[in-house]
Amino acid sequence: MQIVDVEAIPLSYPMDEKRYYAKGEISRDVVIVEIKTDTGLTGIGEAAYFGGPTVTTETVIEEELSEYLIGEDPRYIEKIWEDIYVGTSQHGRRGLTVTGMSGIDIALWDLAGKIHDVPTYQLLGPFKDKVKAYASAGYYTDREDDTEKLAEDMARYVDDGFTGVKLKLGRDTHTETVAKWNQYKGVSKESLDEDEKRVKAVREAVGPKVDVMVDPNNNWDVKTTLRMAERLKDQDLYAIEEPIPADDTEGMEKINSKVNVPLSGCETAYTRYEFRELIERDCVDIVQPGINWVGGISEGLKIASMAASRNKLFMPHAFSSAIDLAAAIHVTCSIPNSEFVEYDQTDYNGLVTDMVEDPFELDEHGYVSPNDSPGLGITLDESFVDNHRTD
Ligand SMILES: [Mg+2]
Repeated sequence: MQIVDVEAIPLSYPMDEKRYYAKGEISRDVVIVEIKTDTGLTGIGEAAYFGGPTVTTETVIEEELSEYLIGEDPRYIEKIWEDIYVGTSQHGRRGLTVTGMSGIDIALWDLAGKIHDVPTYQLLGPFKDKVKAYASAGYYTDREDDTEKLAEDMARYVDDGFTGVKLKLGRDTHTETVAKWNQYKGVSKESLDEDEKRVKAVREAVGPKVDVMVDPNNNWDVKTTLRMAERLKDQDLYAIEEPIPADDTEGMEKINSKVNVPLSGCETAYTRYEFRELIERDCVDIVQPGINWVGGISEGLKIASMAASRNKLFMPHAFSSAIDLAAAIHVTCSIPNSEFVEYDQTDYNGLVTDMVEDPFELDEHGYVSPNDSPGLGITLDESFVDNHRTD
């Protein structure tokens, strides 16, 4: 069996209104990876593009990484990962190379399931058949009634069955009070006041039993995080997600040693090598790589094992398409140390629902399950892909 073709397909899907996180406006773009074999079987994966144009990720996959795949046996997933990592080590090891590798690795695991005719998580060694999902939403909008609408949305997710919700914090529109030159800047008092109101409104809307997570997307500094944790100490938060830049491991370590709320992170960290430091230095309590970002399913599993060795939960970042969500569900169902998977509920996301013929559904208790069909269990809707591709 041989790989005969590797294609990267960039797609875009419109937002229903402008939405913002701490670092600016969000958009919905993805890079799908298709790996074709001489048997007629095709594996599908997804490579994170976050923060950059999709064309760069597409180019790295098609022009460079594909050379490590053509003619290879797709069942040798670990060998292909090592070949690419070592072969690109002088300019890779992080960034675009690893996100490209992630898409390839996910596609190879989809293919492995199809070759063996079982769902991928059954091949990985299942631990459970369903995982709790949290509603990932709570972005800032331009609405006058932004906080009221936020609280309403969160209450609706709970009505839908979600037992966990996440909202964005850390946005600062009062920039005239902030020194812009320093990437490790704190934010203004107005921003902190607004964020405190947002969290309290959400807690009041969802009630005391729901797990509430907050995500300032690296926009705070150490002292700001400590002060906000103090201001929010009665809100019984489930986690504060990467409050400061992931490169500042010393800062993360300091925060995690002083704050009673678990720190989670860091979606912006790459491979087992960066997560080893985050785990061993106790920078985070909940380990949170993106499967389409950190090096794929193979790398996610290794990091999950490292997390388990320090008695930490593994909760993958999954804010993208149905492919990355599927990969996160299959991984979390194959490990003992997972509680939640992230499930995007921010307006209508066609990349999660319409892009595949068999989208995931939340059950009444707030769980999602892998589909029964082989591999990741999802089939691309070709007309949706044709209508939304940007190449
Ligand atoms: Mg995040």
